[in-house]
Amino acid sequence: MAVRRQPLAAVLTVAFLAFGAWWCAPGFADSAPIQRSSAPPWSDPAHHGPLELLLGRVAGALAGRPVSVRCEDPAGWRGLTDDADGELGFVPVDVGPGGSIASDASVVELSPAVCGPLQTFASASGKPTKCSVRSETTKTVWVTRRVTVHEVVAGASSSSRDHVVVRQRTLRVKRTVKRTVTSSPGPCFVGGEPRAGDNAFWSAYADTATALLAVAHETIHLTQDRSGTLLLPPSQAESEAQCVGMQRMAYVAEQLGDTDDDAEAIAQYAYDDIYPNSKGTVYWSAACVPGGALDRRQPGARAWP
Ligand SMILES: [Zn+2]
Repeated sequence: MAVRRQPLAAVLTVAFLAFGAWWCAPGFADSAPIQRSSAPPWSDPAHHGPLELLLGRVAGALAGRPVSVRCEDPAGWRGLTDDADGELGFVPVDVGPGGSIASDASVVELSPAVCGPLQTFASASGKPTKCSVRSETTKTVWVTRRVTVHEVVAGASSSSRDHVVVRQRTLRVKRTVKRTVTSSPGPCFVGGEPRAGDNAFWSAYADTATALLAVAHETIHLTQDRSGTLLLPPSQAESEAQCVGMQRMAYVAEQLGDTDDDAEAIAQYAYDDIYPNSKGTVYWSAACVPGGALDRRQPGARAWP
């Protein structure tokens, strides 16, 4: 019997923000583990597309065994789910007689809404989650100027006349200079606040963060659904997948070529802006806090989640 888990639904928030000078800019040290392509990520009917293979390696590293990830096209996705617009992904589980799992789960199915943003993200040599901030500074500097001065020199005696002498003088004068400073591209979500970006930017950012979380979330289900164990109740399975998934998001983003500071910022955004929306559902848990029962960070990890 194939069991469908509670669908991981898209819960998005779009912050209404307007900033002055900002733009998306390629980040330093970002990399693109897959090539930019006009072909959608579900183009290979055998599910060996570049993004699928990359995500398969990432999920396999987190699950600790070989697994595969499949990106479904819109029609295929509608055939797999009753809620094609809301459902983001699932892990098929084979449950045998007596309710125990018959074989290790080994496949992650992902919706077009997840694979699309992930392909954009993984193939970008400068990650679209980063931005530069432009600011103007005023500085007072001393400048050296050569000036010509006319000096009246008094006559040597009462009978001689005053006369004018032309001299060159070096003067040090104060100047106020305005400078426009452009920060190098960096994380856009810093200390729980957006640094820059308009509504369209944050809408795309939310899509990317949600897609990264969906991969991490489904990967946690792979670790839960092992042969011979009983299927966990939804409240336990989903709250663990969502909370521990957020703690693995930075790793997923880094494997897709992001720098560690931005990867951590996206996970922070997911915890601050996406997670609270699931309060009251099986995905949310009060134990998903630093030091809580669902804190499964690697030893020595500084940041939460
Ligand atoms: Zn789930």
